[in-house]
Amino acid sequence: MGTMFGVGAALLGACVGSFLNVVIWRLQQVDPAKRSLLGRSHCPHCGAVIPWFLNVPVLSWLALRGRAACCGKPIAVRYPFVEALTAVLFWALAAWGTAAPFAVTAEHAVVVDAAAAATWSARATFLSLLVALSFIDFDTQLLPDALTKPGLALGLAAGVWPGVAGELGDDPTVAPALRSALAGVVGAGVGGGVTWAIRALGSAVFRREAMGFGDVKLMAMIGAFLGWRSALLTMLLGCVAGAIFGGLGLLFGGSARIPFGPYLALGAVAALFFGDAIADLLLVTWPEWQRANAGSQWALAGMASAALVLLFVLVRRARRSG
Ligand SMILES: [Zn+2]
Repeated sequence: MGTMFGVGAALLGACVGSFLNVVIWRLQQVDPAKRSLLGRSHCPHCGAVIPWFLNVPVLSWLALRGRAACCGKPIAVRYPFVEALTAVLFWALAAWGTAAPFAVTAEHAVVVDAAAAATWSARATFLSLLVALSFIDFDTQLLPDALTKPGLALGLAAGVWPGVAGELGDDPTVAPALRSALAGVVGAGVGGGVTWAIRALGSAVFRREAMGFGDVKLMAMIGAFLGWRSALLTMLLGCVAGAIFGGLGLLFGGSARIPFGPYLALGAVAALFFGDAIADLLLVTWPEWQRANAGSQWALAGMASAALVLLFVLVRRARRSG
């Protein structure tokens, strides 16, 4: 049963990924006529309508060997990549991200667990929004309101189902739905508030915009879906990932301007799937290791300082040449 649900979720994910490709492309169009999400898919090169049998996720791209059937122009490998990525995320959500939304009894009757189904759908929608926002941010360095605002509203609304955003407190006299809804509201406030504060601080210290207001809205959305603890963990992981990949990008001749959205999305996915394990590592395993290995702390602190100095030197050099 679990395997069947996983395969079904992956197939659904591939189809949703195909739709996300359309969302990513059309939200970047300036022409309002091209921005509509309705209507048939067209070839981005020659405008020909793509028949349904050439629009099968991943498989069509493989069968066509990456070339459009209409005009022979190359189709970017990114299209099947987005489809495969969404399929993997949906599969992971089915495999260990949430409780199974339905079960089969010994009498072969299907029992649907409404709360688990709501949680699964909310999180699948959340993951889809993260995929679309990441790729749009990569392309345009913008996180469009057309996705972050409805995403925030949906996250807050989904919170009325117990368990979607976790629960705030454990007072048994308060209804679980209220605790869950409050967890979404507080999560959105903490996620958006912390990002807004970091943004204000960064602007004051570095006298340039370190983060956009789109990042604030994205983090409010993430907090609404995951709760305040995971929002903070997302911020921490996003900063670490941004520093590592941004540093690597600088080292290998990339630009110093990095879109922050994809790193926050990466942090949110890690917080969703591995939140407990990461919190355990940071709050329990790490302090214990520090107590047991007093001498090596200095070596680690030295290495971290050297890395920080290197990053500053690199950023300064990039600015001078830019
Ligand atoms: Zn074409």
